[in-house]
Amino acid sequence: EFVLYHDQYVRKEDAAIDMEDRGYNFGDGIYEVVFVYSGKSFAMNEHFERFISSAAKLEMQLPFDAPRFVELTEGLIEKNSLRDGMVYVQMTRGASPRNHLYERDMKCLVTGFTREMKPPEQLHQDGIRVYLTDDIRWLRCDIKSLNLLGNTMAKRQAADHNCQEAILHRDGTCTEGSSSNLYIVKDSVLQTHPANNLILNGITRQAILKIAHEKGIEVKEEPFTVKDLAAADEVFISSTTMEVTPVIQAAGQLDAEYQIGSITRSLQNGLKKKIYGSEFI
Ligand code: PMP
Repeated sequence: EFVLYHDQYVRKEDAAIDMEDRGYNFGDGIYEVVFVYSGKSFAMNEHFERFISSAAKLEMQLPFDAPRFVELTEGLIEKNSLRDGMVYVQMTRGASPRNHLYERDMKCLVTGFTREMKPPEQLHQDGIRVYLTDDIRWLRCDIKSLNLLGNTMAKRQAADHNCQEAILHRDGTCTEGSSSNLYIVKDSVLQTHPANNLILNGITRQAILKIAHEKGIEVKEEPFTVKDLAAADEVFISSTTMEVTPVIQAAGQLDAEYQIGSITRSLQNGLKKKIYGSEFI
């Protein structure tokens, strides 16, 4: 099993990281997760477009252009003979004597690894429980940065309450999940938070909105409240690893139960179709 280290494939134990790497000291870096199905990556180009946009927002200099990133990542999948699973790629600003002030011309460090895993089909079928809690994160959630404490703390809380995902709200406005985007359906209208600084614009989210348009489902990219969440007909989350996963129950600051509805199923099938190239279920 190999890892990506700069532009080389090396054994994990041979990849030395400097103790003063800014990713390690400050979380000064970005990442992407791409899913691989039967040896084929899904939406690789879209993921690297976002990676490059995250880098630009943090004034990080890319050591490679987008096609080279894709090539190195596809190469790692091949090198590790990954059939089903994910590939993780991150880039930190690199190493320098610890100082909050960053220089703009630092040599960034790219690393990556693969992991075998299957999509959670049982959860796609049965749905999950979510835990509603405050969104305590910073105001640049549009950047896919390594700083994830607001996300990891919420996820821990959710798990402690027997929930598979945390749903976050800012003063009563639902933003997204701790590692997913959030959607409600009310009177056959699909609603999700607009892609601004308060959420990560998921690659899966973008695919789902496209599928919804193709299927003639009405879409509102507008903020909605915890009250709206409570009154929703259908609720689901999306991400690279979770695809479309229905929500059947909410706990924490909200106590609600939901049926898995036809719009959720239709979008779930639409996404599977895009991924596998044929109708699912
Ligand atoms: N929001 C957050 C906070 C996330 O961490 C993720 C998953 N990385 C998503 C949304 C979903 O993004 P994607 O569909 O690109 O995986």
